[in-house]
Parts: sequence; structure tokens; C-alpha cells
Amino acid sequence: MDKTTDFDPAWLNEYVLPNYGRYNVWPVRGEGPYVWDRDGKKYLDFAGGVAVCPLGHCPPPVVKALTDQANTLIHVSNWYCIDKQAELARILIEECVKIPGKCFFSNSGAEANEGLLKLARKYGQQTGGRYEIITFTGSFHGRTFGAMTATAQEKIHGGFGPLPPGFVYVPFNDVQALEAAITDKTVAILVEPVQGESGVNAVTPDFLRNAQRLCKEKDLLLLLDEVQVGFGRAGELTGWRAIIPGDEIQPDGISWAKAIGSGFPLGGFWVNDRRDLSKVLGPGTHGTTYGGSPLACAVGIATLRAIIDGKLCDNAKTLGASIAAAGRGWNHPLIKEVRQLGLFIGWELNAEAITEKSGGKLPSIFLAQKLLDAGMMVTPAGPNVVRWLSPLNITAGQAEEGLTLFKSVLDEIAN
Ligand SMILES: *Cc1c(COP(=O)(O)O)cnc(C)c1O
Repeated sequence: MDKTTDFDPAWLNEYVLPNYGRYNVWPVRGEGPYVWDRDGKKYLDFAGGVAVCPLGHCPPPVVKALTDQANTLIHVSNWYCIDKQAELARILIEECVKIPGKCFFSNSGAEANEGLLKLARKYGQQTGGRYEIITFTGSFHGRTFGAMTATAQEKIHGGFGPLPPGFVYVPFNDVQALEAAITDKTVAILVEPVQGESGVNAVTPDFLRNAQRLCKEKDLLLLLDEVQVGFGRAGELTGWRAIIPGDEIQPDGISWAKAIGSGFPLGGFWVNDRRDLSKVLGPGTHGTTYGGSPLACAVGIATLRAIIDGKLCDNAKTLGASIAAAGRGWNHPLIKEVRQLGLFIGWELNAEAITEKSGGKLPSIFLAQKLLDAGMMVTPAGPNVVRWLSPLNITAGQAEEGLTLFKSVLDEIAN
């Protein structure tokens, strides 16, 4: 039976809120790094649902865990003990973070960050009434009130004031500005090891080191938003180790989502055990009805096992480096810079040259549309960067396929 026969595409505009600027592409099926639309057109998906599909589409071990768990127990709520939560938390702490702590499970990245913000506020109350949280220009932390306010981007805040107080914005990677922004009301620093939405901009090792030093000196919490960078995207299970390897950086809190659920809504945060930090959010202080359901956690376990046991961080590092080397080697007139950590790849466009051809459209949006026409999905990151967020398990052949498609579209625009 053709499920699309009595479907009318006009329903989307008629019944769904118009808050997204969507491409007119209707994916209906996916497998590995490919998706197919309603008309049967095939796309190479290097958007990966915005860094959400580390194993590609419908990965068999995840589908199996999902269906097995759905046939066993889907949801019971956090009034009860959920074995899969304990198992997932153990993997996160023993195999990913490798620092003693405790996990909480949510349904999204914004909610994970909300948890960290509440942790910081409560810790501040317990330590002299501090409440200010420092975040950075170009950051993105989500769309709920707290996470949106933490996001230091005017365009995200516009029209929603008054915003909750207590957020202080500092230029990204500016140690002096950070130091100057700390007051006796400051309680935490929240930073992405690699900013994704602003165009794949990594924190510098020097900045991260100094942020940690300042946190130690002033008893601030070092909170890392790993929602996009976590679980192999940048070539390490934890994003900050792609910046500074080993155990030098010891965060106080970490937020996750995106890749951890392979597309099933799952997020979470981790709190360091040291100084009893993981006791700050005690019974009754925080919660969620859905978060950490048996179904979500079973999917999380299957996803992490596949990433860890499949050594996908190594694949991301190797293929990411060769993609970036190839791209830089083109010396393409439309590419200004290639920024790459693992398979977190930002192609900074030559905005002027593209705007000449785009009829006034933003360069990233224009290029992404041209790529869709040619059968490839990428994700814009701001006006002048497109991101590749391919599955971490792509083959060298699929990486090559992406490079060939990408370059042919760039050439076509340039000529
Ligand atoms: C996507 C993202 C979020 C928000 O996650 P949602 O699941 O959309 O709420 C937060 N922080 C970062 C770094 C992200 O990339």
C-alpha cells in the first residue's frame, strides 16, 4: 500500500506551527548515511539530523534494542527503580567521563542544560548566595527559558523578554574578559568545548585551562555543554578531551543529548562527586516524568555500545582528517576555511563570492539548498558556514562520495 496516496503536503502549512524555515524535502526512509524522500530521490545525509545519528539511520543494534525494549517495558516513571538507567549511567561514567559522579536523564539537550543551571543556582545559594552564570558569545544551549537565556545570541532572545536574570555574556576564548566578568556573585561557567551552531569553533586549550584555573580559584562550577560534541563527534567520547587529552580537565558538570539517543529523545547530565556536588540536587529538587525511561535508556545503551565497541572515535578521527585535508587541497574560491575535529566539520564559505551568485540569499542556506538539489544534506551553522555531521561509521568510500558531490556543487556555483 502506498501510504502517501491520500496525504496532502499542504497539511504541513495548514496545521503545523510555522516556526521553522524548512527545506521543501520530505524524507520518508533512511538507511545508514542515506535517506529517501517521498518521490524516491536519494540523499547522502551528512546533516545527520543535526549531529543526532552517530550510527546513521535505522542502525540494526539500536532498532533491535528499541523493539526488544518496546516489547518488554516502555515506561514506568521515576517513582520506581529503572535498571536500564543504572546501566546507562554506569557506561557513561566508567567508559566515557571516567571521573566519579552521578547522572540524571532528560529528554533533550535544553532540559539537560536546565539541570546544570539549577545545579549551579542551588550550589550558589549554599555557598553565599551566588547566582551569576557566565556563558559565551556564539554559544547555543537550547530554547527553554534558562537555556535560551544562557545562549549568548541576540537573535535567539529577540522578543521574549524579560529574560531570567543572572546570565553574563563574555567573548568566546577571551581569558581576560572572562577574568574581568567574574564577581562575588558568579557561581558557574557554562561553555561548549566546540561551538556547533556558531560554525564549529573550538575552545582553545589555553582558554579551557584558564577557565578551569579560575573556577578552582573562585570556587565556580565548570560546566561543559557536550550536547553536540559528545560521544565521538569530535573524535573523542568526551568533547573536551579532543581539546586537551587525558585527565587535566575535570569538569563539575556535563550536559548531553543528540548522539546519545540515535534520534530517540534522550538527554542527560553528569555531576562530579567531588565536594558532595552530586548531592546538591537531592530528593525532590529536580525531576521529569519521561526522562530516563526504560525505552530511552535501552536505546542509549545500544548506541554507546556501538560507538565504543565499534571504535568509532578512531574512524571519526581518521576520516575527518582526510576529508579536511582533501577539502583544503582544493583551494576552492568559495571556501575560506575548513575547521575540523573528528567528523565535526565546518566549511566556512567565502561569503562575498557566494552572495554574488545567491541573489541575496544567505550563503549557507543557499549552498545547502543547492546541495539538496544535487542529493546531499548538510546543516547550515550561521550565515557563512555549513557543517558536515555525518554518521561516525561512514566508510572511506562514503566520505569520498560526499567530497565529490560537495565539490561538484561548489564548482557549479563558482562557474
Ligand atoms: C542542540 C543543542 C542544544 C539543545 O538541544 P535540544 O535537544 O534541541 O534541546 C544545546 N546545546 C548544544 C551545544 C546543542 O548543540
